[in-house]
Amino acid sequence: MRIDCIELRYCELPLTEPWRTSFGTDTETHTLLVRLIADGVEGWGESSPLPRPTYSPECSATCWAVLAEVLLPALAGAELNGPADVARRLAPFRGNPFAKAAVETAAWDLEAHRRGEPLGRLLGGTRSEVEAGADFGIQTSIDVLLEKVAAAVAAGHPRIKLKIGHGHDIEVVRAVREAFPDLVFHVDCNACYSLADDLPTLQALDAFELAMIEQPLHYRDLVDHAELQRRIATPVCLDESVHSVRDFELALRLGSCRAINIKPGRIGGLAAAVEIERRAREAGMPAWVGGMFESGIGVGLLIELASLPGFTYPGDLFPSERFYAEDLTAPVPRLGPECTFAVSTEPGTGYQPHIDRIERATTRVEHF
Ligand code: MG
Repeated sequence: MRIDCIELRYCELPLTEPWRTSFGTDTETHTLLVRLIADGVEGWGESSPLPRPTYSPECSATCWAVLAEVLLPALAGAELNGPADVARRLAPFRGNPFAKAAVETAAWDLEAHRRGEPLGRLLGGTRSEVEAGADFGIQTSIDVLLEKVAAAVAAGHPRIKLKIGHGHDIEVVRAVREAFPDLVFHVDCNACYSLADDLPTLQALDAFELAMIEQPLHYRDLVDHAELQRRIATPVCLDESVHSVRDFELALRLGSCRAINIKPGRIGGLAAAVEIERRAREAGMPAWVGGMFESGIGVGLLIELASLPGFTYPGDLFPSERFYAEDLTAPVPRLGPECTFAVSTEPGTGYQPHIDRIERATTRVEHF
């Protein structure tokens, strides 16, 4: 396929409630949309780093700059042998996985539309619906948290995830475990602890039979995580530390984790996500789909990815109303009665871009 036109959009959407984690509070998402047109067919991709480089060294502004000045000029007018070719073409440019994912995911959606196939099937998916976990940021009090967890359990979510951090850890986890003795839940530390200072805290979490501890240590670390995994019984799950297939290969060799959170944005797109899913499955390691603050366009891509067989733990897949008053697709992602999302049976993801709402959310647009 020949890439005839690429449209890059910077969109700002307010969140319906502030989201607090160990690295700060976010009140809106700044997300990047890419519309790719080839041979009269179009595909949409999305990448949602945070507005400030707190989760990752990339942020929405750096992604805009790298896409506009380097990546998209290199792809506009190019002849590609399918979506896997995008990652290969962009490989000479180091790092910047969130920027790459914006256009890489669009190429997969485009290919699904060219073939008239659901995206999940194109990626190798085998499920018709995917399970969604419930996530809670750091709350104002334990009582507020317990109320929210009770509502999520009553709604039927198959697992819960709690953000924890210094001053909001052991007592929070103990309260949730005492209130919900059989609940499947895990904690996400967003890299806030260190092996040198916090080993006793992390070892104390073993008492609560968590499904996993997500990214306890430094965001670039694999070695201390391997050491930690040898010293605690709870599986370590990596998120921030894995930026590529190669990072995951190293994590496997070092024994840095026993579970993996796969976010296409963090690793450069869907081809890398599918490859890490395959390697995790072959290693017998549970994988699950992680999310950022994507609009319905990006959530649709994540739902399709989650249909692959290696995703054995419910994903961070959120219904639109969880974060947005007005989302960017029609329909918007909604949970079914069993806390699942239906995988697409039509070409692409089944969530069509809503152009009027996208126009309203767009603060910058450029064509290549
Ligand atoms: Mg995480």
